[in-house]
Amino acid sequence: MYDIVIIGAGPAGLSAGIYAGRAGLKTLILDSKQIGGTVNNAPLIENYPGFDAIEGMALIEKMANQTKNYTQIKEFNSVEEIGKEEDIFKIKTKDEIFSAKNIIFATGTNVRSLDVEGVEEYSGRGISYCAVCDGNFFIDREVLVIGGGNSAAVEALYLNRIGVKCSIVHRRDKLRCDEKLQKDLKNNNINIYWNCELKSVKGDTFVQTAVLFNNKTNEEINLDVDGIFISIGNDPNSHLAKSCGVDCNEFGYIIVDENMRTSIEGIYAAGDVTGGIKQIIVASSQGAIASSDIQSKLM
Ligand code: NAP
Repeated sequence: MYDIVIIGAGPAGLSAGIYAGRAGLKTLILDSKQIGGTVNNAPLIENYPGFDAIEGMALIEKMANQTKNYTQIKEFNSVEEIGKEEDIFKIKTKDEIFSAKNIIFATGTNVRSLDVEGVEEYSGRGISYCAVCDGNFFIDREVLVIGGGNSAAVEALYLNRIGVKCSIVHRRDKLRCDEKLQKDLKNNNINIYWNCELKSVKGDTFVQTAVLFNNKTNEEINLDVDGIFISIGNDPNSHLAKSCGVDCNEFGYIIVDENMRTSIEGIYAAGDVTGGIKQIIVASSQGAIASSDIQSKLM
């Protein structure tokens, strides 16, 4: 029987694991994929205290190694169902059932796609959602990054740095990303197609043409490109929590109080799945708060 089963091994889950383990709570972290969540895709992190700049994967490796000193982590263990018997949660994966007094959902978000002709067809054949994963295939080639937030800016800067010829396509005339990133884009001469939306993607085996639509001039622009990186945000991964009866807001993010408690006794949530400021430091802090609250409850 575990005191806590944490679902999700991104910064929120790992931090929750460190705090729970150090408090002497019997804890298990499960993740349907590899450790790290969306941070694995972050080319460079420049706002996590203690590091001027660090790659997402490198930061996760440090966090994971630290967590393993205190807590077991089972990767590639997808939770299929959660039940409850006499106040004890039954967390079912494909092969096992884990019993726990408390659950922390640190399930993060899933990348958003674009419902545009050709996007699904060319996924993995020029359409990508991760510059760190796929950027190397496009060195010296032309790509577009779709989006105007922090992710799009960081991805474009990374692609530019490794030698990919990259432009941004943004649907408005103002970027949403931080001022610092806007300056970096300018200093690196990264071209931006303002007020433009991706209308369709064409090609043969691989992507060859992106058709853009300028929503100010109503012009259509055909661009010869080799790749398109879609970086338009994320949706919360809260379906399991919902299946337990946990209250979510209109966008699907899990509603929590200041102790990261959800609407169901014994169920907590931390990190991006709770919405708000989606930053590694916030997720880490929320994981720590959740485990500390459980510790004080069990004392
Ligand atoms: P985001 O901030 O929600 O930005 C999404 C971008 O995609 C926006 O510019 C949005 O346009 C655009 N977009 C959304 N739907 C679109 C559509 N259907 N077609 C075209 N464009 C569309 O998402 P994010 O950049 O992935 O960031 C997610 C969170 O992680 C944020 O809280 C962010 O601050 C954080 N993050 C931080 C860093 C960092 O280095 N500090 C790095 C990555 C992510 P509009 O602007 O017009 O809405």
